[in-house]
Amino acid sequence: MKPILFFTLLLLCPLRAAELRVSTDFEGGSATIDAIDSSRREIQIRPGGNPARGWPCWWFVRIDGLAAGETATLVLRGSERSARNNGKDTGKPLSSDWAMPIAAAVSDDGTSWRQSGLGTRETDHISYPLEGTGGPLWVAWGPPFSPRESEALLAGAEQARPDLFHPFTLAETREGRPVRALRIVAEGDAKSKPAVWIHARQHAWESGSSWVACGFVEWLLADSDKAERLRGTTEIVIVPIMDVDRVVTGDGGKEADPHDHNRDWFETPHYPEVAAAQARMKAYVAEGRLAVVLDLHNPASRDLRPFFFVGPPELLSGKARANRERFLNLAVEHLTGPLTLDPKPRVTGANYHPLWRRISGQWVNDHGNEHTLAACLETSWNTRHSTTEGYRTIGRQLGEALADYLSSPAP
Ligand SMILES: [Zn+2]
Repeated sequence: MKPILFFTLLLLCPLRAAELRVSTDFEGGSATIDAIDSSRREIQIRPGGNPARGWPCWWFVRIDGLAAGETATLVLRGSERSARNNGKDTGKPLSSDWAMPIAAAVSDDGTSWRQSGLGTRETDHISYPLEGTGGPLWVAWGPPFSPRESEALLAGAEQARPDLFHPFTLAETREGRPVRALRIVAEGDAKSKPAVWIHARQHAWESGSSWVACGFVEWLLADSDKAERLRGTTEIVIVPIMDVDRVVTGDGGKEADPHDHNRDWFETPHYPEVAAAQARMKAYVAEGRLAVVLDLHNPASRDLRPFFFVGPPELLSGKARANRERFLNLAVEHLTGPLTLDPKPRVTGANYHPLWRRISGQWVNDHGNEHTLAACLETSWNTRHSTTEGYRTIGRQLGEALADYLSSPAP
């Protein structure tokens, strides 16, 4: 071809931007894809969850076709499917607020996460600005934490301190997946040590709560006097993901049919992992040493400060009430930012939910030892600090508060 003809053809056929592709066929992936406009570089999606498997607010996609430095827009709308609440179908969709953080979580490798620029909210949608790096771009509601991350956390802990950190399988889920956990105890007489139990993700979409658990484990592994004292004087169990099934399928978990994990704490649990957790806690109670149970969550979109949910104080023994007060004061001392704890806990009693008595914290209050402390920590997800680092900081600060709580004598 003569050079002149070649350049003429090139001018007539300007280089077209690569076609955009969106996929969700991976662990935790979820979206209904409404439109992909490759020429406008705009992708329109909704959360893809099945409301029978929990609130459809989680979304997580992989985008291919964005060149390095090229910008695009992810337009997100709320799920249109009718959602459940208080144990029944409401006949209307969930408020889209639950699905729309002020910024999306973005990653180039699916492992390290940063926030996108702030989304622009309009009546029924929010638009997140994206920037390509030439490879796949992973975009999600918040930093994902799936069994893959959980396994890496457990394996890393065991590798660093095989004498102390012992991964184990708490239960097999209804759908046949392992619920993995970590037991931390030094050789010797475990039966004389206070037991601490921490679990996250009773609600599958609340990925930030697993990152808080991750920060706590990292703190516990660290070379500090306080961490060393806590791991040497207690037995600790950490379950980074309780509702493994819905985390893997990218469903919300909360208000699932027939009920979610945090409404399953009664005599005949629906979920094997809840039954297994109850059995282990009961064994600690029988030995008189269930000291602390913490349940980790993410709250509502407008809760911009972390806070604790606790059961009604009038149902506690005097000792448990005093212990709770002491722990909450220590938490205020340590959870000082960038996500700063609201010093006022909220009470989950009869007015909170028809199944309030079946919330894990209340089950612990009803079945624990006289001195057992149970609390639920809600860490804000809708802020500029709701990142893997922000969540891990809360986990580290929680470690400090726990260490102080367990080393100071009860009044
Ligand atoms: Zn929750």
